[in-house]
Amino acid sequence: MSAQGGTEGVVIAIDGPSGSGKSSTAKGVAKARELRYLDTGAMYRALTWWMLEHGVDTGDAAAVAAAVDRPVIEMGTDPSAPAVAVDGRDVAAAIRGQEVTTHVSAVSAVPEVRELLVDVQRRIIADARAHSAGIVVEGRDITTVVAPDAPVKLYMTASAEARAQRRSKEVRVSDVAATQADLARRDKLDSSRVHSPLTRTDEATELDTTGLTLDEVVALVVKLADETRGQ
Ligand code: C5P
Repeated sequence: MSAQGGTEGVVIAIDGPSGSGKSSTAKGVAKARELRYLDTGAMYRALTWWMLEHGVDTGDAAAVAAAVDRPVIEMGTDPSAPAVAVDGRDVAAAIRGQEVTTHVSAVSAVPEVRELLVDVQRRIIADARAHSAGIVVEGRDITTVVAPDAPVKLYMTASAEARAQRRSKEVRVSDVAATQADLARRDKLDSSRVHSPLTRTDEATELDTTGLTLDEVVALVVKLADETRGQ
């Protein structure tokens, strides 16, 4: 048992659509309980960034699959400084740009991409467990595919308006309606793809964050994690 309430070695799996508050919540919980943190969306974004840099047509699944092994993606797991590097280059800012956001859902629908990244994600989780560190992992298929055995599984949602407001603030754009349309486009692609679509498993606790502050959501998840570990 750790001094912070028994979350040592725990895996907290969080899924949900963009803007549901996953990233901020996952980081907040990881900091509160001294756990590692893995943003799997950043991995799909990093791979997409590399494809665009190298002129790979992201609409051509065969071309994406053929190139999938080429980039070296390194992920940091410190929630206070989440690092993403591709071929030794820091891409933490570059992967948040509009071009990557536009293409990422097409790249992440390619089975070879998912196979490779899910494997890396499982190894990062296994490493945390091997060090009794515990880890908060967020994405679209963490509760269903990457870590279905995680003791804490959450599905976060929020109204379309609240999600668009949050995402607009994050990326500093004033056109909330355009952001909402872009989120809807990505949600549709991410939920309707054949391989590992975004879905809620019955085992995941649903958390609607509309109208809640970040501190309130973090406190709820920390409580849930502590209770689960205390059982
Ligand atoms: O979470 P974020 O919005 O940064 O994720 C970017 C994209 O990466 C998603 O729209 C989705 O297409 C893909 N993704 C995924 N599986 C995950 C995490 C993200 O397919 N586990």
